[in-house]
Amino acid sequence: MTSLVVATRNRGKLKEIQAFLEGLVANVYCSSDFENFTDTVEDGATFELNALKKAREAMRFTGLPALADDSGLVVDALDGRPGVYSARFAGDAADDVANNLRLLEELESVPASSRQCSFVCSMAFVTPEGCEQTFSGKIEGRILGEERGNGGFGYDPLFLVDGFDRTMAELSTEEKNQISHRGQALRQFREYLETH
Ligand code: IMP
Repeated sequence: MTSLVVATRNRGKLKEIQAFLEGLVANVYCSSDFENFTDTVEDGATFELNALKKAREAMRFTGLPALADDSGLVVDALDGRPGVYSARFAGDAADDVANNLRLLEELESVPASSRQCSFVCSMAFVTPEGCEQTFSGKIEGRILGEERGNGGFGYDPLFLVDGFDRTMAELSTEEKNQISHRGQALRQFREYLETH
């Protein structure tokens, strides 16, 4: 594929997606590359609905095939929160630091044995010709009592990956893409591109 727009301004996500698409797509653009690009209002009840909405709007605005990811953290002890509200867990203008602090506070009285969670990703690919496809991925882990590692973004320093002795933030971009929710969805996307 020659050109693709990734509907995101999240640098962490973009870095992971770009690393994955290297050699597959010649020109990978993002929302910030387009003047007056209006960000999608993410008001869907599910990751999939939000991803589709973002991809459709990006495709319409740019005229290019668009890929959008909607993802987040699902914590069992919080009945699935923050879920689709992961980016705004600590408020509308919240950053990663504030969101991680809020997560630690909400889980303060929850013992290590009950801190199961997962990262979930829905990815949507939409083309000007009318093709719409969605892909998904999920990875299980546990929320630690304090941050570990400097890589990744978002909740990565608090997410201890099941079967590993490391948090997501202690993995390189390549290692994270091998196992992560986003990496799983991106592999499905690659297979789709290779067969269509
Ligand atoms: P979105 O931009 O609406 O999809 O929000 C995604 C939010 O979920 C991010 O801002 C992070 O807080 C969280 N999130 C999604 N994927 C990851 C990940 O791979 N690592 C850490 N946090 C993530």
